[in-house]
Amino acid sequence: MIEGQITKVSGPVVQARGMAGARMYDVTFVGDLKLIGEIIRLEGENAIIQVYEDTSGLEVGELVTCTEQPLLLELGPGMLSAIYDGVQRRLPILAETYGDYITRGTVSEPLDHEKLWDFEPAVKPGDTVKGGDVLGYVQETEVIKHYIMVPPGQGGVIADVKTGSFTVIDVIAVCEDGTEFQMIQKWPARIARPVISKMDPNLPFITGTRILDTFFPVAQGGYSIIPGGFGTGKTVTEQTLAKWAQADVVIYVGCGERGNEMTEVLSEFPELEDVRSGQPLMKRTILVANTSNMPVAAREASIYTGITMAEYYRDMGYDVAMMADSTSRWGEALREVSGRLEEMPGEEGYPAYLATRIADFYERCGRAVCLGSDERVGSITVVGAVSPPGGDFSEPMTQNSLRISGAFWALDTDLAHRRHFPAISWMKSYSLYLDQVEEWYAENVNMDWKNARDKAMMILQKEDELQEIVQLVGPDALPEFARATIEVARMLREDYLQQFAFSDVDAFCDPKKQYLMLKVIITYYDVLQEVLSKGVTLKEALEIPFRTRIGRMKEIPNDESSEQLETLETELQAELRKLVRY
Ligand code: ADP
Repeated sequence: MIEGQITKVSGPVVQARGMAGARMYDVTFVGDLKLIGEIIRLEGENAIIQVYEDTSGLEVGELVTCTEQPLLLELGPGMLSAIYDGVQRRLPILAETYGDYITRGTVSEPLDHEKLWDFEPAVKPGDTVKGGDVLGYVQETEVIKHYIMVPPGQGGVIADVKTGSFTVIDVIAVCEDGTEFQMIQKWPARIARPVISKMDPNLPFITGTRILDTFFPVAQGGYSIIPGGFGTGKTVTEQTLAKWAQADVVIYVGCGERGNEMTEVLSEFPELEDVRSGQPLMKRTILVANTSNMPVAAREASIYTGITMAEYYRDMGYDVAMMADSTSRWGEALREVSGRLEEMPGEEGYPAYLATRIADFYERCGRAVCLGSDERVGSITVVGAVSPPGGDFSEPMTQNSLRISGAFWALDTDLAHRRHFPAISWMKSYSLYLDQVEEWYAENVNMDWKNARDKAMMILQKEDELQEIVQLVGPDALPEFARATIEVARMLREDYLQQFAFSDVDAFCDPKKQYLMLKVIITYYDVLQEVLSKGVTLKEALEIPFRTRIGRMKEIPNDESSEQLETLETELQAELRKLVRY
C-alpha cells in the first residue's frame, strides 16, 4: 500500500509526498477523514490529487493512501432506479444512514450486494465465450432485461453455469481454466468501453416533439446541446425527452451549481410516469447527482460515471439517452482545478486541453456494433445543457461544445415570455444531421419529407423578413401573396411548432403524423398562392374556416391521423379552388 502525507491543500486540490509508485488517476483516500480523490499529476514522489469532497479542515501532515486502482465503477443489475453521486455512491441509502447530506469520507456499495436476482443462463458447458458475449439474463426492472455479459478482454470455455437466485457477487459461471464470472463488472470510469465498430449516425433519435424531429433532428448516437437559461423550458424539455424519446434507458447527470436545482430533479424525476409502460420512469432511469456539498471537482467525475453507465447499457444493445445538465459546470470545474495547478491558462482561464476533453467525452457517444458474438447494436445519444454565464454564447465552453455538437436547440426567452412552447427558436437553432436522417425519413415516412421541411422553414424565414417590413409600413402595405405567407407562417408557429408537453394526445407526435400535419399546411400555402394568382382575394380565401380545422390537427390521435389528415388536405384543395371564377 502506498502511503504519503499531505504537503499542501488548495481548495479541491491536495499535494502529497511519499507517493512513489502511484499512477495517474489512481484513487486515493485523503486525510484522516479518508476523502475520495484521484491523482491528476505526478512529479517524482509528489502527487497532486483532485479531491471529490469538501477539503476544509484537512491539514498538512495527514495521511494519504493510494488504492493503486483507478476510479472503478460497479456495473450490474440494480443500477436502474438508483440515484448516485459522481463517484457512484448511492444517495438515498446514504441519506437514510447519515441524514440529508453525505458525510465526508463515506463509503457505500454502488450495488446492493445482498439482493437476490433470478439469473437465467444463455450459455451451457462447452460453449466458448469472449468479451461481450451474453452469459444470461436478469429481469432488472419491469421494463428492462439486464444482459449479464462477459467483461471485455475476458473469455474461455464454459465449464459450469448456474440457474436460480444469486447476488451480484455470487459466481454464476466458471470457465475450464478457472476464470469465474459474477453478475458484477468493474470498469474504470475514464476509459471508454470497447465496441466492435462505430456506425454512421443515420437514424433519427425520435423525440415526438415536432420542432426537434422535423426541423432540428438529432441522430441516434448524436450529440445535441440546449442552452439552460432560467424559465425557458429546459427542465420541461429534458423531462419530455426522458419520457417520450425513443430510448430504452435514460441517464441523467446533474451538476447543478445551486443545490435547489438538483433537489428539483431529485424530487421530480421519481414522480414521473413512463407513458409507454405505465410504470415509474425511474424503472429505466439512473440519476447521477452532484450534491451541493460536493466541490466542483466532483462534477468531472459525474460526467465520466454517467457516460460509463450509458456505455454499459449500450453494450447490451439498448438505445441510451444521456442528459448532462449542465456541461458548463463541468467546464468551470476544469478551469478551477487547472488554475489551482497553476497551468498555463488558455482562453478566459480555461485550460488549453478543454477542447480535447469535450471532444474525448463526445467520442464516447454514438451508435455502435456492440462487443460480443450476437451482433447487438446499441447507441448513446447525448443531450447536453449549456448555461453560459450571462447568456454569453461566445465563451469557450459553449463555443467548444457547439463546435462538436451536431444539433443546437436554442431556447428563447422571448418565445417563453409569449408562452410559445417549446420555446425553441427556429431562427437560431440548427442541425447538422438533416442530410444523414433524410434517407430514413424518405423510406419510413415519405419521399417528400425533406422538401416539406425545407419549404416550411422557408415560409418561417420569409415571415421573419416580412415582419420587418410590417413594422415599418404596416401589414396593409404588403401585397396579398406576402400577407398569405404571414398567415401560413402563423399557422406553422401556432398549429405546428407549439406543442403542449402536458397534453395526453399531443405530447408525443409520431413522425408520420408530423409529416402529414406539415403537408396539410404546405398544401394550404401552395393552393392559397395558386388561387390568389387567379384573382381570388385573401379575404375570401380566409373566410373558409380551415384555420380552425388545421388548429385541431394536434388533437387527432397518432393512429387516426393518416385518414383524417389526408381527407383534410383533399377537402382544403377542393374548397379553395372552388373560389376561382373562370
Ligand atoms: P427552466 O428549467 O428553463 O427554468 P422550465 O422547464 O421549468 O424552465 O419551464 C418553465 C415553465 O414553462 C414550465 O413550468 C411550463 O409552464 C412552461 N413550459 C415549458 N416548456 C413547455 C412545454 N413544452 N409545454 C408546455 N409548457 C411548457
